[in-house]
Amino acid sequence: MPLRTTRLMLAEEPGAIEHAAEVLLDGGLVAFPTETVYGLGALGLDSDAAGRIFEAKGRPSFDPLILHIAHAPELERVAEVNEAAWRMAERFWPGPLTLVMPRSTAVPDIVTSGLPTVAVRVPAHPVAHALLEAVGEPVAAPSANPFGKLSPTTATHVRTGLSGRIDVILDGGPTARGLESTIISVAEDVPVLLRTGAIPAEEIEEMLGVRLERHVPTSRPATPGQLDSHYAPHTPVIVSTEPVADPSRTGLVVLRKTGVEKDFAAVEELSADGDLTEAAKNLFAALHRLDALGLDLIVVRPVPETGLGAAIMDRMRRAAFREDE
Ligand code: AMP
Ligand code: MG
Repeated sequence: MPLRTTRLMLAEEPGAIEHAAEVLLDGGLVAFPTETVYGLGALGLDSDAAGRIFEAKGRPSFDPLILHIAHAPELERVAEVNEAAWRMAERFWPGPLTLVMPRSTAVPDIVTSGLPTVAVRVPAHPVAHALLEAVGEPVAAPSANPFGKLSPTTATHVRTGLSGRIDVILDGGPTARGLESTIISVAEDVPVLLRTGAIPAEEIEEMLGVRLERHVPTSRPATPGQLDSHYAPHTPVIVSTEPVADPSRTGLVVLRKTGVEKDFAAVEELSADGDLTEAAKNLFAALHRLDALGLDLIVVRPVPETGLGAAIMDRMRRAAFREDE
């Protein structure tokens, strides 16, 4: 792909959002903060523009994109919306919930990877919101990282991964949630949890009054965030409670320190209070830091799989997965 000059701009810089919106309207690529992770945006109803996202990320064409809109009523332009979708939108938008619904004819095939459904959300981050309002069009935006790698929670992560491949990075500081959106399909009669994420499944089930069906991943998944290997650092990762052969060459990720970590080369404590919301927010940045140390191994100690713990452990297992396993 042709090399691009990547311009890093502070989101609060006067004119930054307007500039980024113009770049998008011209068919360019803009990375921007959302409350989950940084997204890599392009015009979502323009197949050439959306195609550039796949090129820049090295993303396979079977991995569909999420459309981001400024306001829930814009849903009707891109999807066939049913009652369940409106209820969830009303409760959780703006916010880290992605809804999968039957698509409208306005949505190009490249965005949905040819699927009959489209994924949509309304982000809550003020910079994302201002950008979407300035563009006035749906913006397709997967995470702003090379395909399969650790998700970006700071503008620096984006620059390290995609510099020279995209036009603008809007720096709005570290993201608040640190985990991708929860994805729910409301395309069928029964709502299905396609990806765990920043809103715990239990919270959605409580609101709907039904248990969500769980999607069973296959090797060509409906939701490629569900690929076995994903969110992966360069350094090998294992999720384990076992002692480690050479702690001096090993980085450790723990929810909270217990005092037995001193032999490790580096330790990342996700939350001194054992708070899973704080742990989720720190997770990817902790892995980025350990990965930068060039160690032999990263060991992750499991966290409880309730609430956000389910999404945290999902990301950790995919970071740890190796093809030869
Ligand atoms: P990313 O933003 O990189 O985490 O990727 C967006 C996620 O949304 C991917 O895992 C996609 O597969 C998923 N997604 C997008 N569109 C659909 C759809 N129509 N059906 C199921 N999953 C989808
Ligand atoms: Mg991603």
